[in-house]
Amino acid sequence: MKDAAAWLRVLSIVNESGVGTITVVSATSGTTNKLILAAETAKNGNLDAAYELCDGIRNKHIEILNAFFDLIDTPAQPHLLDVCVNHVNNLTDKLNHYLLGIHTLGELTPKSLDAISSIGERLSSFLLAHCAEAYGMNATWVDSAEVLITDSEFGSATPDMKETTSRARILSHNVKEGRFTIMGGFYGSDKNGTITTLGRGGSDYSASIFGLIVGADAIEIWTDVSGMFTSDPRFIKQAFSIKELSFNEAAELAYFGAKVLHPATIQPAIEKNIPVYVKNTYEPQHPGTRIFSDADSDSPVRAIAFKKDITVLTIISSRMLLAWGFLAKVFSIFEKHEVSVDLVTTSEVSISMTVDKKANIDHVIEELSQIGTVKAYHNQALISLVGKDLLSSRGIAAMAFEALSDFPIRMISQGSSDINLSVVVENDHAINAVQALHDVFFPETKTPENL
Ligand code: ASP
Ligand code: MG
Repeated sequence: MKDAAAWLRVLSIVNESGVGTITVVSATSGTTNKLILAAETAKNGNLDAAYELCDGIRNKHIEILNAFFDLIDTPAQPHLLDVCVNHVNNLTDKLNHYLLGIHTLGELTPKSLDAISSIGERLSSFLLAHCAEAYGMNATWVDSAEVLITDSEFGSATPDMKETTSRARILSHNVKEGRFTIMGGFYGSDKNGTITTLGRGGSDYSASIFGLIVGADAIEIWTDVSGMFTSDPRFIKQAFSIKELSFNEAAELAYFGAKVLHPATIQPAIEKNIPVYVKNTYEPQHPGTRIFSDADSDSPVRAIAFKKDITVLTIISSRMLLAWGFLAKVFSIFEKHEVSVDLVTTSEVSISMTVDKKANIDHVIEELSQIGTVKAYHNQALISLVGKDLLSSRGIAAMAFEALSDFPIRMISQGSSDINLSVVVENDHAINAVQALHDVFFPETKTPENL
């Protein structure tokens, strides 16, 4: 959704996908970050700088609109440009009011942050739908706040599938009428009608929720890379796009660091066995990655994901020895502070866990210190080998550790899910360690064609 050329590309992809397609869009690139920054800036006292960010968002959208209408030359409905410009002005005026309120109160609640961070999608979806009409398509905008109903957990809301299903009749109706529906991802509203969001990157998740509800033939995630890769191609040489992945493999990869897909996207797809495609708007002919229930491959390791900037917490306590209830106590502390744990390993007298850097762990550490000695290792990276037959294939662990022999390893975990072998190394070693693993499991001779 970067610029007018991208919008046109998106619309031609939608047009070709056949009438009745439901399109769920994210914000224009960088907008969500700017909105969040504006809210924080206002809260921290600099209202002028916050207003400036808002102006930037307004101008960017007006520029895209003008460029789009120039691009299509003879719009089917020229007056829609005014409709769009009005929408931009209304929403950015609203944003300025919110910013003033936040500044005045000096407080930014998760609820107000959702009202603000959702503006990117509330802009982009309305505008793209009207641009589609101007382009001559039979398209309608549907406000996701009217359809995607969630609980009131602002910032990471959970959809109420029953209510959303009943609201989604409008979508099935549009499909039947042969109309294109265009809506915003990432946001919805709670039962009081207050805007909520599903969490960063949540547009993919919105798409698969709507896909499940209307019983779509396929859920396609269109992004700027051709599918899910064997590893992050920006950092890892010879990483290549994977043709097929099983639902579990894709979910595991997304969760453990593959950023192309929001981790929750796969869940709704599994429920109705709907294939998910990850495709590239810049290269629409590229098959991308197909994710479905019984994807197959010759290679036990399908991909190597990594997540930098995590923290490892280790709790050492002799009270753990031969005692029951110790682990329960540890985890209740994490539960109380709503910090989620990725990996866990235990020994007789210690437990190690990985948590996200963003998590609020100071209180956790404070409370854990009452039951044992706590050590926190920051700036760590979690590296995960993912593959369906990882554990049943012989020699995988040996190959992995041979490749990693130059890198000190803080933690190892294998087996809780039979498709994941994870290690933790220092941030600074992460890329080289992943490259070493990639070189071993995907040697140059193994091209995508013979995988
Ligand atoms: N715009 C939202 C974000 O940046 C949602 C998304 O892009 O999927 O997190
Ligand atoms: Mg995304």
